[in-house]
Amino acid sequence: MEKVIIVRYSEIHLKGNNRGWFEKVLVVNMEKSLKGLRHEIRRQSGRYLIENFDSENTDIILNKLKKVFGIHSYSVGLKVNSDLNEIYNACLEVCGDEGTFKVDTHRADKKFPLNSMQLNAEIGGKLLNDNPKLKVDVHNPLFIINVDIRENGTALVFNEFFKGAGGMPVGTAGKGLLLISGGIDSPVAGHMIAKRGMSIECLHFHSYPYTNMQAKEKVIELTKRLSSYICGTILNVVSVTHIQEEIHKKCDGEYMVTLLRRFMMRIAEEVAKRRGAQCLITGESLAQVASQTIEGMTSSNSVIKDLPVLRPLCGFDKNEIIERSRLIGTYEISIEPYEDCCTVFLPKHPVTRPKLCDIEREEKKLDIDALVDEALSGIEIIKI
Ligand code: ATP
Ligand code: MG
Repeated sequence: MEKVIIVRYSEIHLKGNNRGWFEKVLVVNMEKSLKGLRHEIRRQSGRYLIENFDSENTDIILNKLKKVFGIHSYSVGLKVNSDLNEIYNACLEVCGDEGTFKVDTHRADKKFPLNSMQLNAEIGGKLLNDNPKLKVDVHNPLFIINVDIRENGTALVFNEFFKGAGGMPVGTAGKGLLLISGGIDSPVAGHMIAKRGMSIECLHFHSYPYTNMQAKEKVIELTKRLSSYICGTILNVVSVTHIQEEIHKKCDGEYMVTLLRRFMMRIAEEVAKRRGAQCLITGESLAQVASQTIEGMTSSNSVIKDLPVLRPLCGFDKNEIIERSRLIGTYEISIEPYEDCCTVFLPKHPVTRPKLCDIEREEKKLDIDALVDEALSGIEIIKI
């Protein structure tokens, strides 16, 4: 009898010929997340077994697996030979001492002498016989004993199905560049896109010395949290201090945010191309703040030459985003009170519906290419 963790994958089973590739990436990601912990991953049709791990590390391993995209559910159980006695002994192990239970058998190996119903009855009857404090309740049992008879002569016995992170393995859907601020929204946006299998690299803009070093530390911390879901990442850091100073000095103050956003998008597209990312990802949500109107988004999109901009939070309310950020563990960091560069030089009344002709008039006052090049030349690349 061996303690194992059973891992079942999600949408991958819908894939055709390339299914093997998705499975390989999933295994690589599980290996990365379990690095440093003794274990072996074995494939069994439609699922993986994690074996040979130290029992005292079970919870640590489960917490790591919980963050691996592509996993539908997982269970801690016992692996035995497909032999009635061995199966029964495993059932005894996972069965509580008193209360209600039911046995639920899944029989992949149709050659096993008893069918599912017969095995349920056989094991249930023996358990009742051996322990008078137990009672069967097929509708609302205190615990379920799942018996999974596999094709390869082994059986798995376990109680619970834990919900996995779902989605697709990171690394199977290209690579995107997440514009990450210190706020609540952008880490959630990155998490959502990573869940669909995209590798994520991050880009943060700061306005040091107008913003302090703690603001940057905060973004590093946020990126670390996010990185635990995406098997590591890179944080690109670019200063927009000079750009903001130039806008402040030369342009109509109402356009500060609009102009700055356009600079961010230009720089982001260039960083994405250099780093091999195929799209930009932002934490914008329609109508959330003055700059996130459809006109604001049109204005920032129009400086981008080739890449799509993914805005996964567009249809979310703020409280829905907060709920997600709590779940993924970024909320507590995001609410630390350090200023983002967008709040420096912030106008009292930013334009909410910027017109392209007005924006272009303001941009004529600036040497855009030189400012973009200068910002890019000071890029800092941090491995997380
Ligand atoms: P967040 O909570 O993600 O900061 P927000 O509600 O504060 O979002 P904005 O400040 O308008 O909204 O920013 C919208 C999006 O622009 C952010 O979600 C992020 O993707 C990007 N962004 C804003 N500031 C920065 C920054 N300093 N560095 C990188 N990206 C940024
Ligand atoms: Mg922000």
